[in-house]
Amino acid sequence: MSSLPSPFCDLTTELAHLPGIGPRSAERIALYMVQADPAAMRRLAETIVAARERIHPCQTCGALTEQQPCAICGDSRRDATRICVVEQPVDILALEKAHSFTGRYHVLGGVISPLNGVEPEDLRIENLRPRLETEPVTELILALSTSVEGDATSHYLCRRFARPGLRITRIAYGLPAGSGLEFADEITLARALEGRREL
Ligand SMILES: [Zn+2]
Repeated sequence: MSSLPSPFCDLTTELAHLPGIGPRSAERIALYMVQADPAAMRRLAETIVAARERIHPCQTCGALTEQQPCAICGDSRRDATRICVVEQPVDILALEKAHSFTGRYHVLGGVISPLNGVEPEDLRIENLRPRLETEPVTELILALSTSVEGDATSHYLCRRFARPGLRITRIAYGLPAGSGLEFADEITLARALEGRREL
């Protein structure tokens, strides 16, 4: 790499930090970029900066949004009695594509995993409490992955928020253990929601 221009090496290093891009792919993309139309590359760079600066987590649910609250939290036609708890913003996209949930969401930002240093206070768990107090929620649907951490987090949430008048359910998966929502197809997700069980 030392014989290559340093801006090329810098670009490769930055690209390799992106998810799903290994050193070889990073090199290929960097090679393409340094030979592409400069105007197109400027547009790409500006689009990245604009997206990063304009998109933030919804202060209510944690979904990625340009406005506060997000389009789902701000939509009065959505069923305010149900909150579906998910790990990541991408899970909302998966569930919305399945068209079988009309309630609102709450993004935790991950699952409890002491081995990886993720404790309950590192997640958006306490942000759920004010919602349960101010919104007319009667059902909390836990749509977390089927991993050991997903199970532990579901039980933690159940203990933390159990109260009379609040159903806490967990979606049924037709998926191999350990897999997350984003890998499920729409039909599987729709069935998983229908087949949710009381915790
Ligand atoms: Zn929101």
